[in-house]
Amino acid sequence: MKKKILVVEDERTIADILVFNLEREGYEAVSAGDGPKGLKMALEGEPDLILLDVMLPEMDGFEVLRQVREKSRVPVIMLTAREEETDKVDALEMGADDYITKPFSMRELMARVKANIRRTAPAEAEAPEAARESELMISQEQNAVYKNGKPLDLSMREYDILSYLSATPGRVVTREELMEKVWGYEYYGDLRAVDVAIRRLREKIEDEPAQPKYIITKRGMGYYYDKQ
Ligand code: CA
Repeated sequence: MKKKILVVEDERTIADILVFNLEREGYEAVSAGDGPKGLKMALEGEPDLILLDVMLPEMDGFEVLRQVREKSRVPVIMLTAREEETDKVDALEMGADDYITKPFSMRELMARVKANIRRTAPAEAEAPEAARESELMISQEQNAVYKNGKPLDLSMREYDILSYLSATPGRVVTREELMEKVWGYEYYGDLRAVDVAIRRLREKIEDEPAQPKYIITKRGMGYYYDKQ
């Protein structure tokens, strides 16, 4: 089934190019030209991912994001202008999954869309035997993560972070290394994006995210996976 992408962008040319390229990549793409319309389509249209411009008429992208997050965990990639450095981290703090800076290459944008589409959690019935026996289980075969036998709803990136860290339990991985391996060489992002992603991942896998037992912070160095 085609994944549906909602583009919220008031610049008609950019919106059209995005829709054209998304459709060419095999997605279903729809667009909205202002904040209120974007919000309505985000909440009613059940998109699998939203590309959300920050500067929008009537209601800006941050407000749209805030209202979307009250009701939905759909992946959101913010489109920010180059000069708005603080916007990027603000966006992540407010619950965006990622951001991309204008002007962007279509190749980079598509890579980002693919990385942020929420992986479809396998049905509960498919949980492997081992998943019911251990508290947290990462199934490389299924590309899925189970907690107490139930599949977790992780984004691709969250899954990739967890997989990467858990491949070498106890080894401290720097934020730079995580950004390089998980986000990719082409990603020149703010390292705080790593911290935000880790925090969100902890909220999903840890019983007490403030006192994590799986992903541990090594102060001033990075993160490591603690094999239980
Ligand atoms: Ca705009």
